[in-house]
Amino acid sequence: MLKGTFAERLKTAMDLQGKKQVDLVHIASEKGVKLGKSHISQYVNGKTLPRGDILHFLAETLQVDEEWLMGKEKENQTLGEREMREFKKSSKLHNVLYDVRGPVVDEAERMEDAGMHILKLNIGNPAPFGFKTPDEVIYDMRRQLTDCEGYSSAKGLFSARKAIMQYAQLKKIPNLSIEDIYTGNGVSELINLSMSALLDNGDEILIPSPDYPLWTACATLAGGKAVHYICDEQSDWYPDMEDIKKKITDRTKAIVIINPNNPTGALYPREVLQQIVDIAREHQLIIFSDEIYDRLVMDGEEHVSIASLAPDLFCVTYSGLSKSHMIAGFRIGWMILSGNKKIAKDYIEGIKMLSNMRLCSNVPAQSIVQTALGGHQSVNDYILPGGRIYEQREFIYKQLTDIPGITCVKPKAAFYIFPKMDVKKFNILDDEKFALDLLREKKILVVHGGGFNWHQPDHFRIVYLPRVEVLKESMEKMGDFFSYYHQ
Ligand code: PLP
Repeated sequence: MLKGTFAERLKTAMDLQGKKQVDLVHIASEKGVKLGKSHISQYVNGKTLPRGDILHFLAETLQVDEEWLMGKEKENQTLGEREMREFKKSSKLHNVLYDVRGPVVDEAERMEDAGMHILKLNIGNPAPFGFKTPDEVIYDMRRQLTDCEGYSSAKGLFSARKAIMQYAQLKKIPNLSIEDIYTGNGVSELINLSMSALLDNGDEILIPSPDYPLWTACATLAGGKAVHYICDEQSDWYPDMEDIKKKITDRTKAIVIINPNNPTGALYPREVLQQIVDIAREHQLIIFSDEIYDRLVMDGEEHVSIASLAPDLFCVTYSGLSKSHMIAGFRIGWMILSGNKKIAKDYIEGIKMLSNMRLCSNVPAQSIVQTALGGHQSVNDYILPGGRIYEQREFIYKQLTDIPGITCVKPKAAFYIFPKMDVKKFNILDDEKFALDLLREKKILVVHGGGFNWHQPDHFRIVYLPRVEVLKESMEKMGDFFSYYHQ
């Protein structure tokens, strides 16, 4: 498809509706759509194409068909005399953004199909990078497989939930029983479930920017309004409390934190968590805490579960085995409801309904939760000096900060780094275009900051799971790329 065609059609549609660029920026801002002057000018001048959510906004505002705007001719399929009915995706998906697997990934797949080798630094999936599941986990799953043929209870097997409960007790999560624990097909399923059970159309929920975009996507899909609060790079990427306070309205129901954080690698200290608890207490908010990286904490730091500081509030804490036990493909995660459950009685009914409706989570994966959570934790060897995750972090941090025009905060946990590009030096106006250019020129796949609901075009995320030798090669290529890149 030609950018020129899009630009021409955009201009035609704007003329027909009598709308100038500034009018579109104005309407976008009123509707809470992020559309800057520089973006619209790039579209009109044929320099770049819009993302799905912006395309939808433009098509809706200019009263034209999205496909027509993108330059596609309508193919009139016919069945005999009759025109065939066309099936479109639900309009509920129009404002849903999930770019971790988005257009840049589509291009990478196209390049791979054409026989090119792409270095994928885009997804936090440990197994392909040689991180092995502990042998005992595999052995125990094999032994129990024939006992896992039927559905389990909707919340999950007793043995799995008991082990999760004991883990939660060690993390000092208050006021919980085994009935407050739900297993899921990964944390992903439970994020979706808990947003669907809570949000009515227009309800607001505070979500970090940058975020793990599934949170924003699920809140939006549920009809809610994701309101992004800033995490401040100048303060080790901790949430900006003033920004949080400014964004609370009568419709705000909850706050989400991701701790340890994806994509920044930040770990929130007790004082920061306490401030969030104080705000949630004052405004009577639910706290959702995504703690899937809680065992991947480096430098001898301790992970604190925010729920342990908030016995009087209603908290939901999420974790799982995808990252700590390198079994992302087995799909096992859980959520723990804790604290003041009386105030959430009706919401918990909703959670139970949705949990029952999906019958249960993957039972073979539940069967190894007890094995995984007890005894020796092989993940600990990865995060100490000499361990792979620790050494790869040291390496990537040094290499990135040696590149002129790139700065970054050293991550304390997980396996992501979120570097900042000097947008003036590289003249970067569009971070998705940067990711595409890097992919096409150096065959390295990263996710641009916009994919994490970060609204400046100045960041990208690297997954530093590959071995140092592979990271070295990619860093040399990246160093070269940034020595000439100018958008
Ligand atoms: N939460 C965060 C912060 C993540 O980074 C991820 C995966 O990358 C998930 C949740 C999803 O995890 P799961 O594999 O348990 O669905």
